Parts: sequence; C-alpha cells; structure tokens
Amino acid sequence: MPTALQRDTDDPLAHKRNEFLLPPRGVYLDGNSLGCLPLSARQRARELIEQQWGLDLIKSWNSHSWIDLPQRCGEKIAPLIGAAPNQVICCDSISVNLFKILSVALQIQTGRTTVLSTHTNFPTDLYTVQGLQNLLGEQRCRLQLVHDDCLESALQSDVAVLLLSHVDFRTGRVNDMRRLTDMAHQHGVLVVWDLAHSAGAMPVLLDECQVDFAVGCGYKYLNGGPGAPAFIYVAKRHQAGMRQPLSGWMGHKAPFEFDTQYTPADGMQQFLSGTPPVLSMSVLDAALDVFTDVDAVQLRRKSLALTDLFIEQVNARPVLSELQLISPAEHTQRGSQLAWRHPEAWAICQALIARHIIGDFRAPDILRFGFSPLYLSYQDVVHSVDELEQVMRNGDYKQPQFQVRAKVT
Ligand SMILES: *Cc1c(COP(=O)(O)O)cnc(C)c1O
Repeated sequence: MPTALQRDTDDPLAHKRNEFLLPPRGVYLDGNSLGCLPLSARQRARELIEQQWGLDLIKSWNSHSWIDLPQRCGEKIAPLIGAAPNQVICCDSISVNLFKILSVALQIQTGRTTVLSTHTNFPTDLYTVQGLQNLLGEQRCRLQLVHDDCLESALQSDVAVLLLSHVDFRTGRVNDMRRLTDMAHQHGVLVVWDLAHSAGAMPVLLDECQVDFAVGCGYKYLNGGPGAPAFIYVAKRHQAGMRQPLSGWMGHKAPFEFDTQYTPADGMQQFLSGTPPVLSMSVLDAALDVFTDVDAVQLRRKSLALTDLFIEQVNARPVLSELQLISPAEHTQRGSQLAWRHPEAWAICQALIARHIIGDFRAPDILRFGFSPLYLSYQDVVHSVDELEQVMRNGDYKQPQFQVRAKVT
C-alpha cells in the first residue's frame, strides 16, 4: 500500500488545494454543508464591494454585467451537471426553486395529482410539496411518501411527479438517476432531482438520463459561500409554454418596459422573480471558476479514494468499532460523504471540532463527514482518523462542554 504522503504526491488534483483559503489548523470535512472559500471568490468579493458597489454603483448593472449573473452562473454550472446550454439558471434557494418547478410539472401533468417522494428525502423538499398542497388543495397536489425500496410499486397512474435527492443527505447513498428516471417515464411520471449533494462532487448526467427537472445548491460542493443562490434545470423540451407562479419583473420578457401586464421571458429567464442578490451571486460566479480545468470524473475518482481510505483507517482501529457505518460500501452507491451512527454522535462531533477536525451531526445520532476532492488530501484523512481515535480512546466527548446543543447543528 502506498503511504498517504505518496498518494498526495501522485494526486493529479493536489494543486487545486492552493486555490482555496483553508483553515490554518486541522481538517475541514464539511464541504458538503458549506464549501471552503476559493481565492477567486475572495478576490471578487473585495473588488465587488470596493469597486463595483463602492465606486461604480448603479453603472455596474451594465458595466460589470450584474444583470447577466443568473444566466452566466447557470451556464458555468451546466457542464458540471451534464446539461447543454440554455437549460440552467441561478436564483433563489432550493426550497423556492422547487416551488416553481413543481408548479410547472403539475401543470404539464393535468389530471395527475400525486407528488411521490421518500421518507428519507431532505425535509425542505417535502415541506415545499406540503405548502403547494395547502395552496392548491388536495385535488391538485398531494404528497405521497414511501420507503426507498417501494418506489416502483408506488408509480401508479395518479402520480404526476417523482421528487428525489440524487444523494441522501444522511447516509450519502446515491440513487440511480438513470434507472429511476427511466422507470418513472415508463409510467408517464415526470422526475425532479435534487442535486444538493452531487453537483460539484461527481458526474451528473441530466441530459443523457433524460431528466425533466433538477434543482441544486450553490454553497455546498460548488463553494459559493454561505447562503449562495441555488440553481434550476429544466429540459429544453419542457420550456415551451411553461408558466412558473412566482412571476416577477426579472422574469418578464422586457423588464425595463415596465408594462402593467406580465409576459414571461422565453426560456430559463422566466424563473427569475425579483432582483438577484448580486453580492452572493457574483461571488458564486467567481467561485465556479475553480472548476474550469477539472472534470467530474477526476473529482469522483478522488472522492471515492478518499472515502475508501477513511473507511479503511476506521476499520483498522479496534476502538472505533463502536461506530456503525451507515454509508454504502459499494462505490456505485456511495456519494462524497460518510456517516456513522453512535448514541453520543453530537458530543463526539464537538470533541472532534475542539481538535480542529470539522465534521457535522445530523439528528438523532449521525456523525457525518464530507469529502470535497478539490481541497482534501490523503494525509488529511489519516490525520482525521487519528484524532477520532484519540477522542474515542480518551473519552473526550464525555466532558460536559461537549454535551450542550447549539442552535445550528
Ligand atoms: C442543503 C439541501 C437543501 C437546501 O435547501 P435551501 O432551500 O437551498 O436552503 C435542499 N435539499 C437538499 C437535499 C439539501 O441537502
């Protein structure tokens, strides 16, 4: 077996680490929740505040192309998710975007009312459907939840939309996009994929899998910064005649005509509602440049190698056998994160953070680590497991300060 040092030396992505500001000590294993700061984004933020906003003010809408940011960011994300041009736009949050997308999908599927999803899906996705159900009434929209292995039998003729996460946010299990999309289509069902935990970490083939709609996150593996805008994908074939319900001036065909009548813009621009958050979106635009010279296949290869090594290191240390791995061992089913169950997961996570190993906790008992292949090294992995071993061996986590729950977990 090569050492971690040798593997870092041979890593074709090793140089990408220099494009980020990383915490001076420890290891950051939470890039699946909030990606690290790309230096390009820091540079843009300074220039944006001091020059573009500070000095150029309103002229910047044209001179710095603020007005085009939603499209520009969308087109930078498109190749990462297997989308040809003119199908992706950047705006709002996943939650708001799902509201728009589900409305459009339900309009296409007249006569069908059910939005089918799974119990384990990310809660905001389910809350959005519940909100639509309250607004439209159950005769137009009805949420049905099933267990992951019951999806096929639940695809009945009243199902309008299948709403799934590509990668499970707790376990990191990957849903087979091609198989599930095909299966849904065979039953006349449209599919909406949530790419929060896959965009920027692994290949996503939306066009090739004939996906109908997708949404995803700007602040996780895309490193756009806290609260960065999200994105929407709509397959070209569904764009003609679509009407999203949050009609606002930025989605109007001619916003600066100030017409009293709303006329939707052609294509993806319609998904804009109000003014884009220029500060966040411009920072995301610069952050996306770290992806220009990498491809998702390389990212995937390294991500799997990092998670393989982490699992191997954990398994080699008897004191860690109390931790129960709930992420798939099988490569095809494993995302870019690993999760372990332990009754003291919260306290263990806090004790690790005190040692500068940043992971996170998901209720009720999950310890979760994200592996961003752009800035993590093989030595980081070994060091993290060394620290985890210390925490468990010394029982650090039993100290009272690690038991207190914070507001954000
Ligand atoms: C992080 C995450 C979200 C976040 O939704 P926002 O509305 O953008 O805050 C949604 N779905 C999944 C699967 C996530 O992991």
